[in-house]
Amino acid sequence: MIRTTSQELTRRSFVSSLAGTAVLLNGQGIGQAAETSSKETLVAFGAHPADVMGSCGATLLKHALRGDKAVAVPLTLGVGHLWKPKEGSFGRLKDESTAQLKTLEQANRFYTDVVQKAYAALSPVELHLLGLADSPLELSTKNIKAVVEVIRRFQPTMVLTHHPTMSLLAGHPDHRDAGELVLRAIMLAMEETFHTSPYPTAVVSRIICYGGSGDRWQSLGQADAPNVFVDVSDTATAKDKASLIHGPLFGVTADSLKQRWSRSSQPGHPHLEAFVQLRPVVVDYLRSSPGRPWLGANLLEGKAERSKA
Ligand SMILES: [Zn+2]
Repeated sequence: MIRTTSQELTRRSFVSSLAGTAVLLNGQGIGQAAETSSKETLVAFGAHPADVMGSCGATLLKHALRGDKAVAVPLTLGVGHLWKPKEGSFGRLKDESTAQLKTLEQANRFYTDVVQKAYAALSPVELHLLGLADSPLELSTKNIKAVVEVIRRFQPTMVLTHHPTMSLLAGHPDHRDAGELVLRAIMLAMEETFHTSPYPTAVVSRIICYGGSGDRWQSLGQADAPNVFVDVSDTATAKDKASLIHGPLFGVTADSLKQRWSRSSQPGHPHLEAFVQLRPVVVDYLRSSPGRPWLGANLLEGKAERSKA
């Protein structure tokens, strides 16, 4: 892939933390760039639509409102674990509308409608439903190609996704597999020989994983506890509004949202979204590699030099 020097400059992202230092970003967003004029492209992948919204909905909106491109990409609809056709329920909702769902296609359509309405409340964040099969989400070459295609199409400077080891003991197994699928796809999106595509190869220089609220991480003894906190005071209300459209399906209420904010709050910052920035490979301690990929930075540097020549 050939990038011009000016693209390199405008896409330069700022590596904000090294070696586990927690960073609180107030009013700047995780995509604060070295040059204030530069724009970021964020693609946020999640196993399910509610995961992306719950983990980073307010951060995506914050970026979108400052002029960055922010795309939410739920890999699956999660219908496989939400829809109970014999019971006539969908998630926690059981009423006339859910009793009428008889086929997978009807269930997909029913939930797609809810998801689209919920994400419309986060506009101008874009929604891109990938529609992979869930429960289980397969770690297959076919699915990696589907994710690679999204990465190549949007050319994100920053990818957000599930932490690949976070839900080893807790949560839906598709969360962990979504994280792993996306990390694999980020590597393979760089390879010309992997998957013929109408889009150019892509290099992702920054990966941010969903942090969740503190207690689960601590109970799992995770070394990768949240190390980036984004202050989303300006967009928290819009996220709550969007989450409440989803509400009846997941038992989400105004009160439960309030509790959720209080769990992730820090003194002076009542509305935070927590993340784990995966460590960049440190090639030279005194030199961060803005605009360079997360892994294999030294290898790609050689490639980039050659392609420029
Ligand atoms: Zn989920």
